[in-house]
Amino acid sequence: MKYARTLLAAATLSLAGTASIAQAADEVNVYSYRQAFLIKPLLEEFNKETGIEVNLVTGGGGLLERLEHEGPNSPADVLLTAEVGPLYDAVERGLVSPVESETLASNIPAHYRDPENRWFALTARSRIIYASKDRVEKGEIKTYEELADPKWKGRICTRSGKHTYNLSLFASMIAYHGEEWTEQWLQDLKANLARKPQGNDRSQVKAVKEGVCDLALGNSYYFGKMLTNEEQPEQQEWAKSVNLIFPNQDDRGAHMNISGASVTKYAPNRENAVKLLEFLSSEKAQAIYAEVNYEFPVRPDTPRSELINEYMGDFKGDSINLQELGPLRATASKLLDKVGFDN
Ligand code: FE
Repeated sequence: MKYARTLLAAATLSLAGTASIAQAADEVNVYSYRQAFLIKPLLEEFNKETGIEVNLVTGGGGLLERLEHEGPNSPADVLLTAEVGPLYDAVERGLVSPVESETLASNIPAHYRDPENRWFALTARSRIIYASKDRVEKGEIKTYEELADPKWKGRICTRSGKHTYNLSLFASMIAYHGEEWTEQWLQDLKANLARKPQGNDRSQVKAVKEGVCDLALGNSYYFGKMLTNEEQPEQQEWAKSVNLIFPNQDDRGAHMNISGASVTKYAPNRENAVKLLEFLSSEKAQAIYAEVNYEFPVRPDTPRSELINEYMGDFKGDSINLQELGPLRATASKLLDKVGFDN
Protein backbone atom coordinates (compact mmCIF):
# COMPACT_ATOMS: atom_id res chain seq x y z
CA MET A 1 0.00 0.00 0.00
CA LYS A 2 1.26 3.44 -0.82
CA TYR A 3 0.95 6.44 1.40
CA ALA A 4 0.27 10.13 1.33
CA ARG A 5 3.35 11.18 -0.58
CA THR A 6 2.63 8.69 -3.33
CA LEU A 7 -0.93 9.85 -3.60
CA LEU A 8 0.17 13.44 -4.00
CA ALA A 9 2.40 12.30 -6.83
CA ALA A 10 -0.49 10.37 -8.35
CA ALA A 11 -2.66 13.45 -8.13
CA THR A 12 -0.07 15.53 -9.90
CA LEU A 13 0.26 12.88 -12.55
CA SER A 14 -3.41 12.63 -13.30
CA LEU A 15 -3.57 16.38 -13.63
CA ALA A 16 -0.57 16.36 -15.93
CA GLY A 17 -1.91 14.15 -18.65
CA THR A 18 -3.39 10.92 -19.85
CA ALA A 19 -0.37 8.75 -19.04
CA SER A 20 -1.66 8.10 -15.55
CA ILE A 21 -5.24 7.39 -16.50
CA ALA A 22 -4.58 3.83 -17.65
CA GLN A 23 -2.84 3.29 -14.36
CA ALA A 24 -5.79 4.76 -12.52
CA ALA A 25 -7.96 1.82 -13.55
CA ASP A 26 -6.18 -0.30 -10.95
CA GLU A 27 -6.21 2.04 -8.04
CA VAL A 28 -8.45 3.78 -5.60
CA ASN A 29 -7.63 6.86 -3.56
CA VAL A 30 -8.89 7.09 -0.01
CA TYR A 31 -9.11 10.16 2.19
CA SER A 32 -9.54 8.90 5.71
CA TYR A 33 -10.40 10.44 9.06
CA ARG A 34 -10.02 6.96 10.48
CA GLN A 35 -6.58 6.20 11.82
CA ALA A 36 -4.35 4.17 9.53
CA PHE A 37 -3.86 1.26 11.95
CA LEU A 38 -7.61 0.62 12.01
CA ILE A 39 -8.09 0.41 8.27
CA LYS A 40 -4.77 -0.86 6.98
CA PRO A 41 -5.60 -4.55 7.54
CA LEU A 42 -8.84 -4.04 5.61
CA LEU A 43 -7.28 -2.17 2.72
CA GLU A 44 -4.54 -4.77 2.45
CA GLU A 45 -7.14 -7.53 2.28
CA PHE A 46 -9.02 -5.59 -0.40
CA ASN A 47 -5.81 -5.24 -2.41
CA LYS A 48 -5.13 -8.96 -2.06
CA GLU A 49 -8.60 -9.86 -3.29
CA THR A 50 -8.94 -7.43 -6.15
CA GLY A 51 -5.42 -6.35 -7.11
CA ILE A 52 -6.60 -2.75 -6.82
CA GLU A 53 -3.90 -0.52 -5.35
CA VAL A 54 -5.11 1.59 -2.44
CA ASN A 55 -3.57 5.00 -1.87
CA LEU A 56 -4.31 6.22 1.61
CA VAL A 57 -4.28 9.74 2.97
CA THR A 58 -5.13 9.99 6.65
CA GLY A 59 -5.76 13.17 8.55
CA GLY A 60 -7.35 14.24 11.78
CA GLY A 61 -8.95 17.26 10.19
CA GLY A 62 -9.13 19.30 7.05
CA LEU A 63 -9.85 16.46 4.64
CA LEU A 64 -13.23 17.90 3.70
CA GLU A 65 -11.63 21.29 3.16
CA ARG A 66 -9.02 19.63 0.99
CA LEU A 67 -11.70 17.84 -1.04
CA GLU A 68 -13.58 21.08 -1.44
CA HIS A 69 -10.48 22.98 -2.46
CA GLU A 70 -9.42 20.35 -4.99
CA GLY A 71 -12.90 20.29 -6.54
CA PRO A 72 -13.19 18.32 -9.80
CA ASN A 73 -9.42 17.78 -9.81
CA SER A 74 -9.42 15.87 -6.55
CA PRO A 75 -7.77 12.46 -6.76
CA ALA A 76 -9.95 11.24 -3.88
CA ASP A 77 -12.44 8.47 -4.61
CA VAL A 78 -13.53 7.42 -1.14
CA LEU A 79 -14.03 9.37 2.06
CA LEU A 80 -13.76 7.32 5.25
CA THR A 81 -14.89 8.89 8.50
CA ALA A 82 -14.66 7.93 12.15
CA GLU A 83 -18.08 9.35 12.96
CA VAL A 84 -21.29 10.38 11.26
CA GLY A 85 -20.68 14.16 11.61
CA PRO A 86 -18.23 14.58 8.72
CA LEU A 87 -20.53 12.52 6.50
CA TYR A 88 -23.34 15.00 7.07
CA ASP A 89 -20.94 17.84 6.34
CA ALA A 90 -19.72 16.16 3.17
CA VAL A 91 -23.31 15.69 1.99
CA GLU A 92 -24.18 19.27 2.82
CA ARG A 93 -21.20 20.66 0.96
CA GLY A 94 -21.96 18.53 -2.09
CA LEU A 95 -18.65 16.67 -1.88
CA VAL A 96 -20.03 13.14 -2.25
CA SER A 97 -22.26 11.28 -4.67
CA PRO A 98 -24.99 8.66 -4.32
CA VAL A 99 -24.14 5.02 -4.92
CA GLU A 100 -26.75 2.57 -6.13
CA SER A 101 -25.53 -0.83 -5.03
CA GLU A 102 -27.61 -3.87 -4.24
CA THR A 103 -24.70 -5.30 -2.33
CA LEU A 104 -24.52 -2.31 0.00
CA ALA A 105 -28.28 -2.22 0.36
CA SER A 106 -28.41 -5.86 1.40
CA ASN A 107 -25.29 -5.84 3.61
CA ILE A 108 -26.02 -2.67 5.57
CA PRO A 109 -29.25 -2.25 7.55
CA ALA A 110 -31.40 0.65 6.33
CA HIS A 111 -30.93 2.85 9.40
CA TYR A 112 -27.17 2.68 8.92
CA ARG A 113 -27.19 4.22 5.47
CA ASP A 114 -28.39 7.48 4.01
CA PRO A 115 -31.86 7.04 2.44
CA GLU A 116 -30.38 8.79 -0.59
CA ASN A 117 -27.31 6.51 -0.59
CA ARG A 118 -24.74 9.29 -0.10
CA TRP A 119 -23.12 7.59 2.89
CA PHE A 120 -22.92 4.11 4.36
CA ALA A 121 -22.04 3.00 7.87
CA LEU A 122 -19.29 0.41 8.26
CA THR A 123 -19.11 0.06 12.02
CA ALA A 124 -21.34 1.10 14.90
CA ARG A 125 -20.86 2.08 18.52
CA SER A 126 -23.18 3.12 21.27
CA ARG A 127 -22.92 6.21 23.42
CA ILE A 128 -23.39 4.63 26.82
CA ILE A 129 -23.38 5.50 30.50
CA TYR A 130 -20.33 4.39 32.46
CA ALA A 131 -21.44 3.93 36.08
CA SER A 132 -19.28 3.52 39.17
CA LYS A 133 -19.36 -0.08 40.42
CA ASP A 134 -18.99 1.19 43.99
CA ARG A 135 -21.44 4.04 44.07
CA VAL A 136 -24.20 3.22 41.58
CA GLU A 137 -26.49 0.24 42.10
CA LYS A 138 -27.32 -1.92 39.12
CA GLY A 139 -30.59 -0.72 37.67
CA GLU A 140 -30.35 2.65 39.37
CA ILE A 141 -30.23 4.45 36.06
CA LYS A 142 -31.73 3.03 32.90
CA THR A 143 -32.28 5.92 30.50
CA TYR A 144 -30.67 9.07 29.11
CA GLU A 145 -33.74 10.92 30.33
CA GLU A 146 -32.88 10.02 33.93
CA LEU A 147 -29.52 11.80 33.68
CA ALA A 148 -31.55 14.94 34.39
CA ASP A 149 -32.90 13.59 37.69
CA PRO A 150 -31.77 15.78 40.63
CA LYS A 151 -30.62 12.63 42.47
CA TRP A 152 -27.49 12.79 40.26
CA LYS A 153 -26.61 16.33 41.28
CA GLY A 154 -22.83 16.80 41.19
CA ARG A 155 -22.33 13.18 40.08
CA ILE A 156 -22.05 13.23 36.27
CA CYS A 157 -19.02 13.83 34.04
CA THR A 158 -18.89 14.49 30.31
CA ARG A 159 -16.67 15.97 27.65
CA SER A 160 -17.84 19.13 25.88
CA GLY A 161 -21.49 19.16 24.92
CA LYS A 162 -20.39 20.44 21.53
CA HIS A 163 -18.23 17.44 20.78
CA THR A 164 -19.59 15.65 17.75
CA TYR A 165 -20.37 12.47 19.78
CA ASN A 166 -22.52 14.44 22.21
CA LEU A 167 -24.13 16.51 19.46
CA SER A 168 -25.41 13.30 17.87
CA LEU A 169 -26.79 12.02 21.17
CA PHE A 170 -28.44 15.36 21.96
CA ALA A 171 -29.84 15.53 18.42
CA SER A 172 -31.52 12.18 19.10
CA MET A 173 -33.07 13.59 22.29
CA ILE A 174 -34.54 16.39 20.16
CA ALA A 175 -35.80 13.83 17.62
CA TYR A 176 -37.71 11.97 20.33
CA HIS A 177 -38.73 14.74 22.70
CA GLY A 178 -38.68 18.00 20.77
CA GLU A 179 -36.66 21.15 21.22
CA GLU A 180 -38.31 22.61 24.28
CA TRP A 181 -38.15 19.41 26.29
CA THR A 182 -34.52 18.88 25.34
CA GLU A 183 -33.54 22.38 26.38
CA GLN A 184 -34.87 21.67 29.86
CA TRP A 185 -33.18 18.26 29.91
CA LEU A 186 -29.84 19.81 28.95
CA GLN A 187 -30.26 22.45 31.62
CA ASP A 188 -30.98 19.80 34.26
CA LEU A 189 -28.14 17.62 33.05
CA LYS A 190 -25.83 20.61 33.23
CA ALA A 191 -26.97 21.18 36.82
CA ASN A 192 -25.98 17.58 37.62
CA LEU A 193 -22.42 17.85 36.30
CA ALA A 194 -19.62 17.30 38.79
CA ARG A 195 -17.37 19.69 36.86
CA LYS A 196 -17.24 21.83 33.77
CA PRO A 197 -17.27 19.65 30.61
CA GLN A 198 -13.68 18.85 29.69
CA GLY A 199 -11.32 16.16 28.39
CA ASN A 200 -12.15 13.19 26.22
CA ASP A 201 -14.39 10.17 26.82
CA ARG A 202 -11.73 8.12 28.57
CA SER A 203 -10.89 10.89 31.01
CA GLN A 204 -14.50 10.84 32.23
CA VAL A 205 -14.14 7.18 33.18
CA LYS A 206 -10.87 8.04 34.91
CA ALA A 207 -12.81 10.67 36.85
CA VAL A 208 -15.31 8.00 37.93
CA LYS A 209 -12.46 5.79 39.10
CA GLU A 210 -11.03 8.72 41.06
CA GLY A 211 -14.36 9.54 42.68
CA VAL A 212 -14.87 12.87 40.93
CA CYS A 213 -18.20 11.63 39.58
CA ASP A 214 -20.36 8.50 39.55
CA LEU A 215 -21.70 8.50 35.99
CA ALA A 216 -19.99 9.36 32.73
CA LEU A 217 -21.04 9.54 29.09
CA GLY A 218 -18.76 7.77 26.66
CA ASN A 219 -18.59 5.71 23.50
CA SER A 220 -18.73 1.97 24.04
CA TYR A 221 -15.48 1.03 22.26
CA TYR A 222 -13.38 3.04 24.71
CA PHE A 223 -14.18 0.37 27.27
CA GLY A 224 -12.34 -2.24 25.23
CA LYS A 225 -9.49 0.16 24.50
CA MET A 226 -9.05 0.90 28.21
CA LEU A 227 -9.47 -2.64 29.47
CA THR A 228 -6.80 -3.99 27.11
CA ASN A 229 -4.41 -1.04 27.30
CA GLU A 230 -0.86 -2.35 27.77
CA GLU A 231 0.86 0.96 27.16
CA GLN A 232 -1.08 2.74 29.86
CA PRO A 233 -2.13 -0.05 32.22
CA GLU A 234 -3.75 2.47 34.58
CA GLN A 235 -6.54 2.66 32.02
CA GLN A 236 -7.37 -0.97 32.78
CA GLU A 237 -8.17 0.13 36.31
CA TRP A 238 -10.42 2.90 35.04
CA ALA A 239 -12.35 0.33 32.99
CA LYS A 240 -12.59 -2.09 35.89
CA SER A 241 -14.16 0.58 38.11
CA VAL A 242 -17.33 0.89 36.00
CA ASN A 243 -20.41 -0.96 34.83
CA LEU A 244 -21.60 -0.37 31.29
CA ILE A 245 -25.15 0.82 30.93
CA PHE A 246 -26.82 0.64 27.54
CA PRO A 247 -29.68 3.07 28.11
CA ASN A 248 -33.32 2.89 27.08
CA GLN A 249 -33.52 -0.87 26.68
CA ASP A 250 -37.25 -0.80 27.41
CA ASP A 251 -38.03 1.65 24.66
CA ARG A 252 -36.06 2.96 21.67
CA GLY A 253 -32.69 1.45 22.58
CA ALA A 254 -29.25 2.95 23.19
CA HIS A 255 -28.10 5.80 20.96
CA MET A 256 -25.88 4.57 18.14
CA ASN A 257 -23.23 6.34 16.14
CA ILE A 258 -21.18 5.02 13.25
CA SER A 259 -18.03 5.17 11.25
CA GLY A 260 -18.72 5.21 7.56
CA ALA A 261 -17.84 5.98 3.99
CA SER A 262 -18.91 7.92 0.93
CA VAL A 263 -17.86 7.95 -2.69
CA THR A 264 -16.69 11.43 -3.61
CA LYS A 265 -18.47 13.55 -6.16
CA TYR A 266 -15.66 13.55 -8.72
CA ALA A 267 -14.14 10.13 -7.96
CA PRO A 268 -11.76 9.42 -10.85
CA ASN A 269 -11.89 5.70 -10.00
CA ARG A 270 -15.54 5.48 -9.18
CA GLU A 271 -16.00 1.83 -10.01
CA ASN A 272 -13.14 0.85 -7.73
CA ALA A 273 -14.52 3.12 -5.04
CA VAL A 274 -17.85 1.27 -5.08
CA LYS A 275 -15.97 -2.04 -5.03
CA LEU A 276 -14.08 -0.90 -1.95
CA LEU A 277 -17.27 0.09 -0.12
CA GLU A 278 -18.86 -3.23 -1.04
CA PHE A 279 -15.79 -5.04 0.22
CA LEU A 280 -15.86 -3.11 3.51
CA SER A 281 -19.44 -4.26 4.04
CA SER A 282 -18.60 -7.89 3.22
CA GLU A 283 -18.62 -10.67 5.76
CA LYS A 284 -14.85 -10.90 5.73
CA ALA A 285 -14.22 -7.17 6.24
CA GLN A 286 -16.90 -6.89 8.89
CA ALA A 287 -15.25 -9.73 10.81
CA ILE A 288 -11.94 -7.82 10.72
CA TYR A 289 -13.70 -4.66 11.91
CA ALA A 290 -15.26 -6.66 14.75
CA GLU A 291 -11.83 -7.53 16.12
CA VAL A 292 -9.94 -4.33 15.56
CA ASN A 293 -11.52 -1.52 17.58
CA TYR A 294 -14.19 -2.97 19.90
CA GLU A 295 -16.91 -1.57 17.69
CA PHE A 296 -19.96 -3.40 16.45
CA PRO A 297 -20.03 -4.58 12.86
CA VAL A 298 -23.04 -3.12 11.04
CA ARG A 299 -23.90 -6.50 9.54
CA PRO A 300 -26.09 -8.26 12.07
CA ASP A 301 -24.73 -11.66 10.99
CA THR A 302 -21.13 -10.86 11.94
CA PRO A 303 -19.81 -12.54 15.08
CA ARG A 304 -18.80 -9.99 17.72
CA SER A 305 -15.45 -9.99 19.44
CA GLU A 306 -15.09 -12.02 22.63
CA LEU A 307 -14.60 -8.95 24.76
CA ILE A 308 -17.79 -7.41 23.43
CA ASN A 309 -19.74 -10.58 24.06
CA GLU A 310 -18.42 -10.79 27.57
CA TYR A 311 -18.92 -7.18 28.66
CA MET A 312 -21.61 -5.77 26.42
CA GLY A 313 -23.71 -8.80 25.57
CA ASP A 314 -26.84 -8.30 23.58
CA PHE A 315 -28.41 -4.92 23.78
CA LYS A 316 -30.97 -2.95 21.85
CA GLY A 317 -29.62 -0.11 19.71
CA ASP A 318 -31.73 2.79 18.54
CA SER A 319 -32.70 2.20 14.92
CA ILE A 320 -33.62 5.77 14.00
CA ASN A 321 -32.06 6.61 10.63
CA LEU A 322 -28.98 8.65 11.42
CA GLN A 323 -29.56 10.97 8.49
CA GLU A 324 -32.59 12.25 10.42
CA LEU A 325 -30.31 13.48 13.19
CA GLY A 326 -28.04 15.48 10.90
CA PRO A 327 -30.06 18.70 10.80
CA LEU A 328 -30.88 18.45 14.51
CA ARG A 329 -27.22 18.79 15.49
CA ALA A 330 -27.32 22.52 14.77
CA THR A 331 -30.40 22.80 16.97
CA ALA A 332 -28.62 20.87 19.73
CA SER A 333 -25.66 23.21 19.44
CA LYS A 334 -27.94 26.23 19.79
CA LEU A 335 -29.58 24.75 22.90
CA LEU A 336 -26.18 24.06 24.42
CA ASP A 337 -25.27 27.71 24.00
CA LYS A 338 -28.60 28.75 25.47
CA VAL A 339 -28.12 26.74 28.66
CA GLY A 340 -24.38 27.53 28.83
CA PHE A 341 -23.63 23.83 28.90
CA ASP A 342 -19.88 24.08 28.45
CA ASN A 343 -19.37 27.10 30.72
FE1 FE B 1 -13.60 8.09 19.46
